[in-house]
Amino acid sequence: MKTLNDFDFKNKKALIRVDFNVPLDENFSVTDATRIEAAKPTIDAILKQGGSVILMSHLGRPKGVEEQYSLKHILKTASEILGVPVQFASDCIGKEATDAAANIKAGEVLLLENLRFHKEEEAGDVAFAKELASLGDIYVNDAFGTAHRAHASTTIIAQFFDEKKCFGLLLAKEIESLNKVLKNSEKPVTAILGGSKVSSKITVIENILDKVDHMIIGGGMTFTFVKALGGKIGDSICEDDKQELALEILKLAKEKGVEIHIPVDVVAANAFSNDAETKIVNVKEIPDGWQGLDAGPKSLEHFKKVVMESKTILWNGPLGVFEMPNFANGTVELGNFIAEATANGAFSLVGGGDSVAAVKQFGLEDKVSYVSTGGGAMLEMLEGKVLPGIAAILE
Ligand code: AMP
Repeated sequence: MKTLNDFDFKNKKALIRVDFNVPLDENFSVTDATRIEAAKPTIDAILKQGGSVILMSHLGRPKGVEEQYSLKHILKTASEILGVPVQFASDCIGKEATDAAANIKAGEVLLLENLRFHKEEEAGDVAFAKELASLGDIYVNDAFGTAHRAHASTTIIAQFFDEKKCFGLLLAKEIESLNKVLKNSEKPVTAILGGSKVSSKITVIENILDKVDHMIIGGGMTFTFVKALGGKIGDSICEDDKQELALEILKLAKEKGVEIHIPVDVVAANAFSNDAETKIVNVKEIPDGWQGLDAGPKSLEHFKKVVMESKTILWNGPLGVFEMPNFANGTVELGNFIAEATANGAFSLVGGGDSVAAVKQFGLEDKVSYVSTGGGAMLEMLEGKVLPGIAAILE
């Protein structure tokens, strides 16, 4: 796996695909700069060696050139975080970009305008990728969030750099962390999959069954399994057309020697509301008019035991409707168990939009081994897919 360490960037122009797709408020100020901060180590390392940096990114989903999606809005924040004034080219290709790229000197940073102002970016257009490629000497991909897309700047561009391409530090860390779970994992390995639907996690579940010893299935998915097993789930969320699939998963898990753990009790509510009346009930005996919105105390006690005995832990998806404080307990507690297991030496990887949000919200970011930055990309890796952005560097 080629990384920054395989190159000398002195007097070289590094063309880096970053993910600066950050949220902006109504005044176009950056409200969460995590992604810019995450790209800093790669940029710093290249500048320190005496190289220059040309940054490519997308922002939002513009349809053609749309001022509100201009990357100029993030210049101030990026300059502050990187500690150097970031120069800007108001187009990512063409004369302005070419001139700006030709003129940057060692230690300088140039940001190109939103790649997606050109439809050729998402189309993976070869001529467009070639134009981008002409701007730099070495191509660095540090954008995990878009590594599952075969776009011009994430994948197609790599063919114009022969050997002169590598992973940035962030992307390398993502791959390494996922491999610690999927390939070189220390046993016992436990995957915790929560969230709302079986249908969105099914491919992950199927692929992961070959890699884990324990699988905790929680959140809204619980009830499709419980109903399929003959339980009464009241008004809980359920995908009736996935019941057979649920049984199939349980059978497959048994064949593969994977222990599946499903909540035995839940916090049930008489409405999908934080103000609803609640009671703890057996997961198989939820009365009509009530729905399970969080894992109950007995389930958590059991999950704690499984997590504490694990050496490798993967967590994707909340155990309950954690956005409502009255149903956040299961997710918070699970986060605490994982933090404790990590402190005891386990490797823990948290990924997928909602669990990352939960980990941040409950202040557990620094207590797990790694928090993945790419939701969709991480899920695709967990599904066993080869991501085009990663393959393009390895080729
Ligand atoms: P996903 O995007 O599939 O990971 O699902 C995340 C969502 O699942 C969160 O917004 C949770 O509120 C929701 N969720 C978790 N548990 C439940 C539940 N028991 N009933 C309904 N929604 C749930």
